[in-house]
Parts: sequence; structure tokens; C-alpha cells
Amino acid sequence: KMKQSYTKEVQEYVDAVYEAVKKRNPNEEEFLQAVKEVFDSLIPVLAKNPQYIKQAILERIVEPERLISFRVPWVDDQGNVQVNRGFRVQFNSAIGPYKGGLRFHPSVNASIIKFLGFEQIFKNSLTGQPIGGGKGGSDFDPKGKSDAEIMRFTQSFMSELSRYIGPDIDVPAGDIGVGAREIGYMFGQYKKMRGGYEAGVLTGKGIGYGGSLARKEATGYGTVYFVEEMLKDKGLRFKDSVVTVSGSGNVSIYAMEKAMQLGAKVVACSDSGGYIYDKNGINLDTVKRLKEIENKRISEYVKEHPEALYFEGCTDIWSIPCDIALPCATQNEIDEQSAKLLVSNGVKAVGEGANMPSTLEAIEVFLDQDVLFGPAKAANAGGVSVSALEMAQNSMRLSWTFEEVDAKLHEIMKNIYRESVKAAEEYDAPGNLVVGANIAGFVKVADAMIVQGII
Ligand code: GLU
Repeated sequence: KMKQSYTKEVQEYVDAVYEAVKKRNPNEEEFLQAVKEVFDSLIPVLAKNPQYIKQAILERIVEPERLISFRVPWVDDQGNVQVNRGFRVQFNSAIGPYKGGLRFHPSVNASIIKFLGFEQIFKNSLTGQPIGGGKGGSDFDPKGKSDAEIMRFTQSFMSELSRYIGPDIDVPAGDIGVGAREIGYMFGQYKKMRGGYEAGVLTGKGIGYGGSLARKEATGYGTVYFVEEMLKDKGLRFKDSVVTVSGSGNVSIYAMEKAMQLGAKVVACSDSGGYIYDKNGINLDTVKRLKEIENKRISEYVKEHPEALYFEGCTDIWSIPCDIALPCATQNEIDEQSAKLLVSNGVKAVGEGANMPSTLEAIEVFLDQDVLFGPAKAANAGGVSVSALEMAQNSMRLSWTFEEVDAKLHEIMKNIYRESVKAAEEYDAPGNLVVGANIAGFVKVADAMIVQGII
């Protein structure tokens, strides 16, 4: 909570800019939600640094440098022609080439891509690496598609995207629905179209052709490293705590793995169909096999572990009592009601592994009730951090060991925590990491925008 009341003028200015953003981006709920959260955090910074207002940084930073939308035609296994829409938002390149994942999910639209790209600006800045903010994807639904269909779709997607990206221009990676397989097909198609081997054009590549060790684990491990720092400051720890982790994709699996390595008991995880509850602790080998190899639903878990329970629907996972909650599935998966349930069941810390998994109202509940809250921009920055390390290795034409990358990741997460704590203190919101992360991420980008002129 903000302790000081800032000048009415600054508050009114921010509200006016927000109203203009709303008008210019009608019905883009997710994008507006992400903008609102950042804007509200920045009031004390703007009050102390009038140059940001004079230079119209807010007005500029909410407008993507470029938003590309394109047709993605492909042929399904029945021989029918299908058409999807592809997107790439090149949001901000003040501190480095655009960097951010690609999401393949039927919910993808301009609002979703813009909220993700906007978040990415500040997240990437927080990592301390030289990467700007970008994001992309398609409303293509990978669920139930054959391997051949995935290949034809991703090749068509890359045929168009390839003209806008490059190792020093824009470097995509994975997100929901895009993993090592999709990155492989896209890399092959990009290479074919360019006629040269530009390893640094994509991250999340396979280890055998330029990928980085520990990239797969990075987002989940990073989230746990971040939460570990929050806990440490309060004399708490993962050891012997009960943890709930939503999702069962890449982020969730490696958050569970690291939490377990630190001695926690993970009792629940989920997918878009429902969640499993195993009071003795989830068997991660089973989840990994079901999800990473067999491509099955999480409901299958209870067939092998009859002591576990399966429940349909995914928001109810937050009704399970836990010490630490790690939302690692998708945006707005924790609403006000779920947040209140978590609080009344005694949750001590929440670490966001997904992007914007808590609504504005849910965040309010956590902060009001003094729950330790690690916001997505900070807590899930481990993935893109190791992506930047992958780019560095590609440029040097060498590869670091798993231990080297993991140690660098750990250091980066600790640093993000320290910087967020420091910024929150400096701007009169001690302990509020939402404010701290937003400010620490913003200042670096805003200062770079100022010295580079009005561009
Ligand atoms: N999609 C991830 C994120 O939300 C990773 C992006 C990347 O590695 O470029 O940060």
C-alpha cells in the first residue's frame, strides 16, 4: 500500500493517460488490466521525476513500436485448408532487441498478445539483461493436432514471421503451446528461408543445436528461487511446507521439482480440465511422463495413484489449504474469491509463475492481508533470463554446463528480488513487490528512452 499521498496533479495526469489508453484500445481487457497495474505503481516515481511526464514516457510506452498481424494458412490431415491469425508485437526496443515468447492457444487475440508484450518490457528490464519487450502467437489450437499438422502450421507461421525477426532484431521463444518441438520446426523453417545458420534467432532450442542447458527448467526454478528469497526475509522456508502449483506444463513441472528439492510437499497441480490432489505429495515422475512424453490429461494420474483425487474444473484448486501457492497456469486464474479462500486457509506466500495469474482484486486481497506476494514480472523472469543467456552462448559459440547456467539464474533471481525490495522502499511502499518490480523495471527503460530521443 502506498503510504504517502502524492500530488493530486500526478494522480489526475495518470488517470487521464489511462482513459486515453482505454479509448484507443477499446475492449482489450487484459491489456488494460496490465496497463492499470503498472500505471498505479508509477505515481510516486512520476511525482519525483517530472522528466518522465514531460517526455511523455507513459503515452509512448503503452503504444507498441509495431504490431504485426498476419494470415497463417495450412492444410490439415484430412486435406482441408485451415486459416489462423498470427501476431507479433514488437513493443519496446529501448534496452535491447525485442524478446518474448510465442503463445499458441485459441484464446489468443490482440489484447492477450499486447498484455503479454507490455509485461515483457518490464520483466526483461528487471532481469538486468539487454533485451527489449515483445510477444507473439496465434489462435491456433494445438490440442489434438497430429505431429504433421503441428509442423505444417509452425512452418507456415514462420514463413511470414521470418521477415520481421533476427538475432539482433527480435528473438522469439516459447510460451503456452510452444515448446521444444515447435521451436525446432520454426528454427528449421527460418534457416531455410534465410539460407544461413543464425542460432540466436530463437531461444528454447534443443540442446543439440544451440539450446541452453537449464532453459527448460528456468521459469519454474526461478519462481521458486524468488519465493525462497521472500520467505527467507521473514524467517520462513520451503522445507516442510505444503505447496499448491496450478498447471502441469513446463513452468509448473519445474516449479514443483525445485520446491520438492527444497523439502516442500507439493499436494496439487492441474490442467485445463481439472486438478489432482494427493495429500501424500504428488509423484512428479508420473506427471512428467503423462505431460512431457504421453501428452495425456492430468486426470490419468489417479489411475496410477488411487490415493489421489481428481476434481473437474481448475479454479477450485485454490480451495486446498496450503502454505505457498504457485499459480503457473494462465492469466486471471486467481480471482478475488480464490484469493480470499487462500488467505482464510492460511496461505503465507504466493509466487506467480504464469503471466498475470492474479486479477487486480486478488492482488489487493494478498497485499491487504500481508501475504508475501511475488508478482509475475519478477517471479517468472527466470525463463526469459536464461533465454538471454542462451543468446549470449550463441553469440560466443560456446555452451555452459547446467550448473553454470543454474548458478547464473539463481543469482539473477536474487538480484531481481533485491532490486524490487529496494525500489519499493525508495518509493514509500515497503514490502510491496508489485510496486517495486514495476518501478525497477520501468526506470531503466524510461531512462533509455529519454537519452535516445523522441523516437
Ligand atoms: N514466454 C516466457 C515469458 O513469458 C519466456 C520468454 C522468452 O524466453 O523469451 O517470459
